[in-house]
Parts: sequence; structure tokens; C-alpha cells
Amino acid sequence: MYSVRLWSVRHARGLRRLYVFFSRLAPALAPLVRWLGPRRTEALLQPIERAAKRFMFDCRECGQCVLSATGMACPMNCPKQMRNGPCGGVRADGNCEVDPQMRCVWIEATEGTKHIADDHQAHPTPLLAAIDARNAGRSTWIKVIEGHPEIAFQPPVGERVMPQSPLGPFEKACRAGEFVVTVEVGPPDSADPQALLQRAARFGGLVDAINVTDGAGGNCHMSSVAASAILVANGYPAVYQITCRDRNRIAIQGDILGAAALGVQNILCLTGDDVSQGDHPQAKPVFDLDAVSLLHIARGMCDQGQFASGRKLEAPPDLFIGATANPFVPPFLDRVANLEKKIVAGARFIQTQFCFDVEMFEDFMREVRRRELHRRAKLIVGVGTLGSAKALAWMADHVPGVHVPPSLLERIGSASDQRAEGQRACIEIIRALTQLEGVAGVHVMGHRNEDVLAGIIAESGLGPAARLRTP
Ligand code: SF4
Repeated sequence: MYSVRLWSVRHARGLRRLYVFFSRLAPALAPLVRWLGPRRTEALLQPIERAAKRFMFDCRECGQCVLSATGMACPMNCPKQMRNGPCGGVRADGNCEVDPQMRCVWIEATEGTKHIADDHQAHPTPLLAAIDARNAGRSTWIKVIEGHPEIAFQPPVGERVMPQSPLGPFEKACRAGEFVVTVEVGPPDSADPQALLQRAARFGGLVDAINVTDGAGGNCHMSSVAASAILVANGYPAVYQITCRDRNRIAIQGDILGAAALGVQNILCLTGDDVSQGDHPQAKPVFDLDAVSLLHIARGMCDQGQFASGRKLEAPPDLFIGATANPFVPPFLDRVANLEKKIVAGARFIQTQFCFDVEMFEDFMREVRRRELHRRAKLIVGVGTLGSAKALAWMADHVPGVHVPPSLLERIGSASDQRAEGQRACIEIIRALTQLEGVAGVHVMGHRNEDVLAGIIAESGLGPAARLRTP
């Protein structure tokens, strides 16, 4: 029941105390489990556990209860099954990107965590392991009684070991402390690689890497792994974007190996937009992993040379791994904790959502610097422009996670040439970002707007070609 679920979050501190109390008592029942046998005990225990948790938390019976680590908000109520923090699409009012009638589960989790510990931001949140589908419908408490840890944590990863193979140009520029420029290119609705290469050609020499989106907005296009490999084969450094929406962990790990075998050196791990936003709303979303578990698995493949299952790889991939962040939507400053989690899970560069509000971004960066996260991962800030104030307002209203301040809408709306004013504003934002301590570059985005984006990059005087000209 939704109202009881919200009550549970508001009373997270008391409920957590109860949980700790019973979890300490539980092992005393172990002899009873041995006497009855685990199966019979579970058959008796599970209906009680199910009824209580459904009533209190809208429990989805994943069998790996993490309520005590998520402020008594069940993350399985999240339509994307995010177990390690909010997605980037939380609405400005704190409601869910997919179900606007529901409060975002992670806004609730953050609130519940604050009730439990006032200084919750001081502690890095634990990395929760990806769900084990075999546990669905099973009792969590039987594991507590048997003395097994009730929550599967993932160990943090260390710093990236220096790769054996030569660094790719993008990673090289990042490591050298250059102010990098990346651009987003959507793969075409075509089986002809020329359509993709024509788009990429606009950015030759202008950018350090080209991001290839993976079914952006839940829409179907050429696969991002194939498009990334085509770019690499034609001399463009590519960032292969991988979302968790369409593939399970078996398919994703296979794609990571395939991409590396085809010469791709950079990957960006995302959870992905929901299918309801795209052109195939009938499709079944997968979300077997979230971005944090994907990062952890990708890092394990590179550094430990193994699949998520622990099986050894014959030749591990050697990848520069990145993640995304959205500083512009709730739960605002708690987003920095989520960013830290991604870095702990293995991200070494971060690309953000569109920054149209530098002041708001400065607040985020202050906290990033306080935690010294900018020293552990390169922060590349999303920028872009649209042709008119109307288009910008539409994006703010319809694209999950995009925030446009009213002052910018007013400025562009009152200009005689709105397109030119939008581009001027974008260049001003880029210049402001170059002055911000901890910002390592900009990521230029704009759907099928290659000529305008290339013009903005050239005018901003950034990117590899501009660096070569500067003595
Ligand atoms: S906004 Fe995102 S993280 Fe929050 S409940 Fe909805 S899908 Fe999950």
C-alpha cells in the first residue's frame, strides 16, 4: 500500500532499530532451522515475511532485501530496478521519470537514510550487487537466521592499473590534463555506414572522442557497438555507450568483449531511458543491471580479467571506463554521493547531462571538490543548444532530466535571432566551465545538429586541433 510505504520511510529510524534488534536475535533460531530443515522452515516463514513486507514496503520479493541500506524504501519499486541510486531522469518535483504519479523511489530512499543517520552524506553508500534472479520469491530472513549476510555488497575497485596496450587518444588527453571535448552522435536508422561517417566527418580533429548513443530515448537505431567499431575503423576515437535497458549481463559482457576486439577503447556505462519514452513502448525493458553494477562488472573484466560469474577471460579488455551524472535534478547534493559510488565502482571519466545553469552546477562542483572526486575521475560537462526558446522549453518539459533556467528561456525568447542567441549562450557556458576548478572538459550534445555543434566547438577554441595551434 503506497501510503504505508511512505510511512515506513518517514519512520525509517525506528524500523531500522527493529530490524537490527531482530537480526541479532535471529541466529538463535538456527537450531530450529536445522531441526525442521531449511525448506520446511522457509515454507513456514515466507508467507509471513511476504505479507508483512508487502504491507509495509510494497515488497517485490527479490529475495535479497536491502531495505536497511536504502532508508526502508524498496528499490525494486523503481521501474528501472535501480539498486544503487537514482537514475538521471527524476522529475523536478521529485517524481518518477517513468511513473509521474509516484515519488521517485530513490528520493524516498535518500529521505529514509537521512532519518536513520543525519550525517549520511559523510559516509560513502555501499555498492549493492546486481540482483540474483534465482532468489526471486524466496525468504531473506532465513538467510539472516542461518547467519549469512543479508545484503550482497560489491567490493570497491582500486585505481586503474596502467594498461599494457598503448593508451587511446581520449584517455591520453584526459591523463595529460588537457581540457577535452567530446561530442555525441546518434547512429543512423540505416544499414549504410556512410550515413554515420558523414555525421562523424564534421568533427574530424575538433574533438577528442565521439560518443555513440545506445538507443537514446528508447528509440531504435543502428547498434552502438557496431557504430563505434565503424568509427574506430575509420580513425575516429569512439566512446561506446552501453545501456542496461535492452540486454542482460550475458549479452552486455559479450558486447564489451566484442567492442574491445574491434578496437574500441572507451565505454560509457548508463542505465538508460525507459522504453515508454521511445518508439517501441511495447518492448520489455530488461534492467538486469544498473549503471553501477555494470561499471563494477566492466572494471572486473578489465582489471581482474574475469566475467561477473568469476570465470576467467582468456584475454581481458583494456578499456577507459566512464559513467554519467545529472547534477540538475533531485536529490541534488545527494547526487554527489551517487557520483562517488560510480567512481568507487570503477568510472574514470564522467559525462553529465546538459548544463544550462552554471550557478546550479557550481553548487554541485563545490561538493565534488570537497570530496576530491575530481581527482579520481575526469568530469566532462554536457553542453548544447537548440534552435529556439520554444524548442528548449519543449526539451525541458519532455526530456527526462533536463533543467533549463527561466532566465535562459527569456534571454533566447526575446532575441531577434533566437538560433544565434542560443549558440552565443552555449559558448558563454563553455567559457564559464573552462574556468571552474575540477572541470576536465565539455561534452557537446544536440540531436542531428552536427553543423551547429561543430561551429560551436570551433568558435570556443577548444579541442585537439585548437590545442595543436596553441604554442
Ligand atoms: S525516477 Fe528513475 S530512479 Fe527514480 S523511481 Fe523512477 S526510474 Fe527509478
